[in-house]
Amino acid sequence: MLCRMNGMMMETELTLALLFERVGRYFSKVEVVSRNPDKSISRTTYGDVLRRSRQLANALVKLGVKPGDRVATLAWNNSRHLEAYFAIPMTGAVLHTMNPRLSAPDLTYIMNHAEDKVLLVDEALLPVWEKFKANVKPAHVLVMGKELDASIARESDVFDAPELHEKQAAGLCYTSGTTGRPKGVLYSHRSTLLHVLGIALPDSLNLGQRERVLPVVPMFHVNAWGLPYACALVGAKLVLPGPNLDPHSLLELMHNEKVTIAAGVPTVWLAILDALDKEPKRYDVSRVKQMVIGGSAAPQAMIEGFLKRHGLMVLHAWGMTEMSPVGSTTRLRPEHDLLPEAEQFKIRALQGVPPPMVEVRAVGEDGKEVPWDGKSMGELQVRGPWVASSYYKNEEEDDKFPPGWFRTGDVVTLDESGYIRITDRSKDLIKSGGEWISSVDLENALMGHPAVREAAVIAISHPKWTERPVACVVLREGTSATDEELKAFLRGKFAEWQLPDAFVRLEAIPRTAAGKFLKSALREQLKNFRLPG
Ligand code: AMP
Repeated sequence: MLCRMNGMMMETELTLALLFERVGRYFSKVEVVSRNPDKSISRTTYGDVLRRSRQLANALVKLGVKPGDRVATLAWNNSRHLEAYFAIPMTGAVLHTMNPRLSAPDLTYIMNHAEDKVLLVDEALLPVWEKFKANVKPAHVLVMGKELDASIARESDVFDAPELHEKQAAGLCYTSGTTGRPKGVLYSHRSTLLHVLGIALPDSLNLGQRERVLPVVPMFHVNAWGLPYACALVGAKLVLPGPNLDPHSLLELMHNEKVTIAAGVPTVWLAILDALDKEPKRYDVSRVKQMVIGGSAAPQAMIEGFLKRHGLMVLHAWGMTEMSPVGSTTRLRPEHDLLPEAEQFKIRALQGVPPPMVEVRAVGEDGKEVPWDGKSMGELQVRGPWVASSYYKNEEEDDKFPPGWFRTGDVVTLDESGYIRITDRSKDLIKSGGEWISSVDLENALMGHPAVREAAVIAISHPKWTERPVACVVLREGTSATDEELKAFLRGKFAEWQLPDAFVRLEAIPRTAAGKFLKSALREQLKNFRLPG
């Protein structure tokens, strides 16, 4: 018989109640700044957000919201959305953030699948709601604006919260669904709290009470990577950009609010780098200590451009909705300090190592774990307390969850030091003559060419080689580059057979609702494309 001696420590339930208590007790005076659609600024504090969220919680309970009910939000990054982030889980209900950039059929599907009882919608997003409201039936729709302000102002700011348990659901996010139907990931109080603790660590996102954090990543996209809760937990000032996500609005906000940490997907930062290159002196961004870039691969040329030309440090991060989402970050280790700069940049462009409590392995086509040698490729599998154990009401995808693990669908190498390098999504890898070509590597290299603004590489079927790579490029304004020039630029970095067979110029690369390249749309666009020769 197994003999076990238990520790004699308290078994505190790891719920967001601890976070609400803490932010109210210690950080009630810390500022929360929101930019309104008309670009004016609203200022409030965590104390006020908490007070109003208790009033909103009372209002929701009066509407009949019960623990376990899903309450949806359709909102930009602003303090009202933060109130919903606090109020909904406070009642024991589930905060379901919906992405307004999705199509009306996807929004309809998601809302019906989640069976949301109440929807909280931003005034500015009413036109999106109009497009799908006929096909869904939440019992109540509350428009976040003056009217709701007036009605919750009549509620008590004391909320008699139900006792929360750590396994209870707190949040629901649907994956962006580049293929198939969106899939729901149901976060628990425990997973949410552990995730924000994990991402606050110094070698993760390094959050603390002296930081002023600008989540460019939307609060409707995997909870803005956990930043709203994480900032509240550590008492960092939040700077919420609302719908103004163009580079000048963001740079202005970084300048005016003295932002120290900002976070978003590469496409946003490519535009910011462009704006800084054009007018390097217009904004003072000298207080920015780190820009967290993830959601798709941050090209090395961009990481270099920010640091060399503007003294701005990129922290490359990898994650997935199924991972709450932070799965890894890339920082240099002390032993890397002596490496030549070029080598350091190569490391910065890797996807890095997971935070504590998240474990990874790479599994080959034969089902066996591949060695950690920086060369062998396998599918990345992950496990940990903030990794999904299955999808919400969806058994079709159970094969993504082999016992104890989650299959990410990302193809990677792991090196001896544990750094992850994503070579591709498994479905985006190009198989040419039995050998794999990484579309991500080609894209990153192409985006290092001075004339190339964006690049996405896809496979086109080929009678002899099965597939061949074709590069779709968006050139910078006022520049040009011939196919031969682009090919010459890639030579030396790749074997001859890995070079794209053709270069297609596009005005823009289609994007997902989260701002990532939508390769399925590109493949559709190029389905009749004929390779030269
Ligand atoms: P989502 O759940 O919509 O956030 O998408 C997750 C997927 O985005 C991952 O499985 C990766 O394929 C991709 N991704 C996220 N971050 C990175 C990164 N830093 N580098 C490369 N791919 C990334």
